[in-house]
Amino acid sequence: MNHSQAAEEFTHDVERTTWHDKTLWFVREKRDKAVFQIPEWEALREAGSRIKAHALSNLDEYLLEFEQNAIRNGVKVHWAADGKEHNDIVLQILQETGATQMVKSKSMLTEECHLNDFLIEKGVDVVDTDLGERVVQLAKEPPSHIVMPCIHKKKEEIGALFHEHLGTEKGASDPKYLAEAARQHLREKFMTRRAALTGVNFAVAETGGFVVCTNEGNADMGAHLADVHIASMGIEKIIPKARHLGVFLRLLARSATGQPITTYSSHFHRPRPGQTMHIIIVDNGRTTQLGRPDFRNSLKCIRCGACMNTCPVYRRSGGHSYHNAVAGPIGSILAPNLDMRKNADLPFASTLCGSCSNVCPVKIDIHDQLYKWRQVLAAEGYVDNSKKQGMKLMASVLANPKLFRFSGKAGRTVMRLAPFSVSNPLNPWYKQREMPEPPKESFREWYVKRGKS
Ligand code: SF4
Repeated sequence: MNHSQAAEEFTHDVERTTWHDKTLWFVREKRDKAVFQIPEWEALREAGSRIKAHALSNLDEYLLEFEQNAIRNGVKVHWAADGKEHNDIVLQILQETGATQMVKSKSMLTEECHLNDFLIEKGVDVVDTDLGERVVQLAKEPPSHIVMPCIHKKKEEIGALFHEHLGTEKGASDPKYLAEAARQHLREKFMTRRAALTGVNFAVAETGGFVVCTNEGNADMGAHLADVHIASMGIEKIIPKARHLGVFLRLLARSATGQPITTYSSHFHRPRPGQTMHIIIVDNGRTTQLGRPDFRNSLKCIRCGACMNTCPVYRRSGGHSYHNAVAGPIGSILAPNLDMRKNADLPFASTLCGSCSNVCPVKIDIHDQLYKWRQVLAAEGYVDNSKKQGMKLMASVLANPKLFRFSGKAGRTVMRLAPFSVSNPLNPWYKQREMPEPPKESFREWYVKRGKS
């Protein structure tokens, strides 16, 4: 299903759509309140954007500096060109350790690489330990949001899921009760797993250390109890200096959930005695994106999710409609880079209102890039012929004042005399809308008359 078909399925459930919309808007409002308390917010955004731009322009040097420092700290560093290589490296580490079970904290990169499916196929029991991630894992679904993975699920649905898999009381939907049940369930997993995988929010070239941000402490529990800690990071996670963390940690939590700081911002530098620590640095299409001048800025993303919470299309179509690991506006500019054919629909899933660019903490020009992707996709032949012909026709009408006036008049007449010709189920634009009353005259006609009088 393409985005519009999947979105149509989502919106059939009117109650869920309305509630999803309101919930995400509530998070957006929390973000606004947190941001307005910081007079230097715009300066912070500017600093974050510039640091990232600098890091991306010198990525080769900073990645090597990071590698050298991490090795000096006693960490084993691996490089993966794509998702397959990343998954193979994880499997190899697990096999060398003799681990057949692993706990994993939230990592959108591993979603992008489809690590869970790969490992499960190879006989490894992978347990996601972020509460939302565990919910979608039990439901056999992908996350629908990068910060709130099960935001599309109601507490009653989670109660039913936990009753089936964790043996909680039938019909229970009290969030406290369910969270406690998940806590006990996950504790047993933490205590018995020898291997843990975490994501990386920021990797500091200067120190070879990295920071992982969670609100539940699950990354820390996993990493501290396991014999082997694997950290997976995309190449764009690099920042040059430790002092730059002060900028990004302030931007991230406020933009994501409206918190002043993420509950756990854990700094990892070296393995504890007796532990092995691995870092896998993954490209998976990022250097291609870096080489596209119009789209390289998308690599500044710190995965806060603010562009999703504010997007009127995301809020009313749900994350799964984007059929990509990262949904929403940022996902729609990252996904075509990975596969233009498969993801050609995504840059069109936007009103281009620009709200995403307004809230982005690192000032990515998201809506401009969505617009530019449309042009690239059309030029590369990935846009429906009917849409292309329709646009050509529209362009010729708009370029010819006489034709434009005639078309307007003809359209108004048809809408008045035969409204069903446009207001019918075959016309997708009118499926969920009321027919507007056709005006008696165009603005131009009114303006000319007014001028004469
Ligand atoms: S594009 Fe900007 S707003 Fe969207 S997730 Fe990334 S950093 Fe956040």
